[in-house]
Amino acid sequence: MTTDVLIIGAGPAGIFCALGLLGKGDGRRITIVERGLPIERRSCPKERVGHCVGCQPCRITTGFSGAGAFSDGKLSLSHDVGGDLPDLLGADFTQQTIGRCDQIYLDFGADPHVEGVGNPQAIAEIRRRAIKAGLKLVDCPIRHLGTERAQQIYGRIEAHLQEAGVQLLFEHECLDLLIDDTQEGKACQGAVVRSTKAGQSAEPFQIVAGETVVAAGRRGAAWLDGLCQRHGISHESGPMDLGVRVEVRNEVMDDVNNVLYESKLVGYPRPFRDKVRTFCQNPGGFVSQENYDGGLAVVNGHSYKDRKSKNTNLAVLSTQHFRAPFDRPIAYSQQVGQLVNMLGNGRILVQRFGDILDGKRTWAKELSRSNVVPTMPDAEPGDITSALPYRAMTNIVEFIKAVDLVVPGFAAEETLLYAPELKFYSNRVLMDEHLDTNVSRLHCLGDSSGWTRGLMMASVMGLVMGEELATR
Ligand SMILES: Cc1cc2nc3c(=O)[nH]c(=O)nc-3n(C[C@H](O)[C@H](O)[C@H](O)COP(=O)(O)OP(=O)(O)OC[C@H]3O[C@@H](n4cnc5c(N)ncnc54)[C@H](O)[C@@H]3O)c2cc1C
Repeated sequence: MTTDVLIIGAGPAGIFCALGLLGKGDGRRITIVERGLPIERRSCPKERVGHCVGCQPCRITTGFSGAGAFSDGKLSLSHDVGGDLPDLLGADFTQQTIGRCDQIYLDFGADPHVEGVGNPQAIAEIRRRAIKAGLKLVDCPIRHLGTERAQQIYGRIEAHLQEAGVQLLFEHECLDLLIDDTQEGKACQGAVVRSTKAGQSAEPFQIVAGETVVAAGRRGAAWLDGLCQRHGISHESGPMDLGVRVEVRNEVMDDVNNVLYESKLVGYPRPFRDKVRTFCQNPGGFVSQENYDGGLAVVNGHSYKDRKSKNTNLAVLSTQHFRAPFDRPIAYSQQVGQLVNMLGNGRILVQRFGDILDGKRTWAKELSRSNVVPTMPDAEPGDITSALPYRAMTNIVEFIKAVDLVVPGFAAEETLLYAPELKFYSNRVLMDEHLDTNVSRLHCLGDSSGWTRGLMMASVMGLVMGEELATR
């Protein structure tokens, strides 16, 4: 099989790459290979049965729109948030492209309302408390799609791509890249793919392509890391995020939720002075689970536009950047995650903050005494501190105490901490400003490339790539 542009992964990065090509009127053949299902067939069985049944591949993270479909759909509209793309593309160009991607989301039906821009006096008051607590408050306007509306918007984009003639190969897994190693250097000729559809041959076959774009997301990050090592694709070990998902009653977060929607707070607590930050805040949201290869269960969170819980959840992430000789940050995070899963008998662990300070595990009967009722009822009460590394755990505890000065009640005894919250974007593929790797005709996008950490930045990187390829 042959194509002109082969895109591996139908997450926001891959989708916006195709939109970028189409937007420039490029008539070349575009093929997208995606492990998961079309958006209309994506549903998480947990909604019906109440617990994770371990779909392979996980429907929360695979399929059309990737991890975006069941995400909260918060589009961060500032180049200061969502990864390090400005270092590659320049801050002004990145911000301008955020504007164009935002317009595309609006054209496909996003809510025109933007959160976090009104009420400057209330924002100033929150910032005053943050300064006192030694934390930085990052300003970031947010467009909230909402989980159910995100699915509708991406559904319209899927239909648009199909109408425009883009070939979408669902339930097809990319196994390897076709790399030619000649005297002139390495060049990518396409990829090796196999169908995972029931009743279809699983025999691997080649797709020969003029340009190959890998946009495999966090789910494909470990796989891409392996390809980098095997094929000599230039890469480096980037910063690694390890953390917990915190859940409190909405009453605790109301001030911040109503004014900012999402509080982006950053601190460097004693004694390690590592960067620790809040991430992905979901007012009235639900704590959720995503599964990675090998059955690794990882916690996340999302919120609907209309259906609301009594709780707010958000991630607290501790960032570390390991240096030489260590260069396997993804494998490190996976091992930490497996240790947490082991203690929870394969489930997400949950512990009360007060129990952590008292040096004891949490028991199920103790959870029922609290105001806050877990929105993930199948999480296993236990002891996170026996599995998370001392440094990350200390960073998280000290940071939560500091946030309590900005949001009184945040460090309450009953505050829930779920683990492991892991982000697999720490293998960074080295590229120039045209998104070219050291292997000619090979490009890497989105969270798997290590340059982005969110929907908007992954979309921006995809759009820039598509428009760049259209000029070639
Ligand atoms: C529950 C949840 C909530 C979130 N909330 C937000 C939010 O509110 N705001 C925000 O900015 N971000 C949020 N995120 C993160 C956001 O979804 C990701 O940052 C974004 O989707 C990254 O886009 P991507 O295209 O790089 O990768 P992905 O969206 O992960 O897409 C990658 C795709 O590649 C496919 N793939 C991987 N390997 C292969 C292979 N070998 N062969 C074929 N296909 C492959 C996968 O199946 C997947 O569909 C959330 C994530 C989750 C899980």
